[in-house]
Amino acid sequence: MSVFEVGDNLFGLDLFEDGKPFRTSAYVIRGPEPTLIETGSSTSHSYLLQGLEELGYTPEDLRHVIVTHVHLDHAGGAGMLMQAASNAMLHAHPKAARHLIDPGRLEEGVRAVYGDVMDDMYGPILPVPSNRVKIQKDLSTLDLGQGRILTFYDSPGHAKHHFCVMDNVTRGIFSGDTIGIHYRKERTGWGFDYGFPTTSPSDFDPDVMLATLDRLEALAPEVVYHTHFGPTRPARDAFQFSRRGIHAIQGMLARLPDDASPETAAIMLRAFLARDIAEVGHPVDQMDDLALDIDLDSKGMVVYMQKRKTGKL
Ligand SMILES: [Zn+2]
Repeated sequence: MSVFEVGDNLFGLDLFEDGKPFRTSAYVIRGPEPTLIETGSSTSHSYLLQGLEELGYTPEDLRHVIVTHVHLDHAGGAGMLMQAASNAMLHAHPKAARHLIDPGRLEEGVRAVYGDVMDDMYGPILPVPSNRVKIQKDLSTLDLGQGRILTFYDSPGHAKHHFCVMDNVTRGIFSGDTIGIHYRKERTGWGFDYGFPTTSPSDFDPDVMLATLDRLEALAPEVVYHTHFGPTRPARDAFQFSRRGIHAIQGMLARLPDDASPETAAIMLRAFLARDIAEVGHPVDQMDDLALDIDLDSKGMVVYMQKRKTGKL
């Protein structure tokens, strides 16, 4: 089943990223102005349409499409969806809008990190016409009718072009990649859930991420709607595992030599995760499912160290 109910007129959709369940979700708010949060990449497009159909919607029914940031697993398919969702506006962070309108530089950056596997994993990135993109600044709001109001919060730390969105009806935050990743047991094949932040390149900054977590938690949310994956309730659990993970990352950053390679960082991160998972759950004989995240997170750690060293933070 790809659709799951998470709250009052609020549903999660499994986007089957890379063909796999429980990795990446989108959310749909039902109401007078149907709203989609996150599109996933272009390779998720057919799953997205299926999910909408299960909810009785066609893409033309959507009035609003929101992407938390422009990383491809969140917004790579925005252009493709906006062609089908002809009555919708795309809401984006002030620093994200230009990449959605003209994805050339974004594509270059992603290719530098992923290489050519990018095409298989994420598919094409189509541009969105500029007159269909609405910039949402920090603290701006979107009124969906029937008393439902979404508020946008600039939330750097994972990416400078990232916002989180608060829903007043469920007191939930659509957190994108800012309040950690909730690794569900259905995904990992382990007997327990696990949470850890994502530190992928190229904007990761642990101090900024911690400041953003403080600011978002002060809003007193009850639930966090992760893109990866589904809700964490109570919200404080997600803040807790995110902070805990960032503190661990800071410890690793302090121990790594200044000129550490991503491979060295990956070895350290993998060893930490194996120990940590053993502590919170039980020893696992495989961490296959985390391989891509460990690869990206260690690259992000090294990019951060290089920026710090050269005064470019
Ligand atoms: Zn992501």
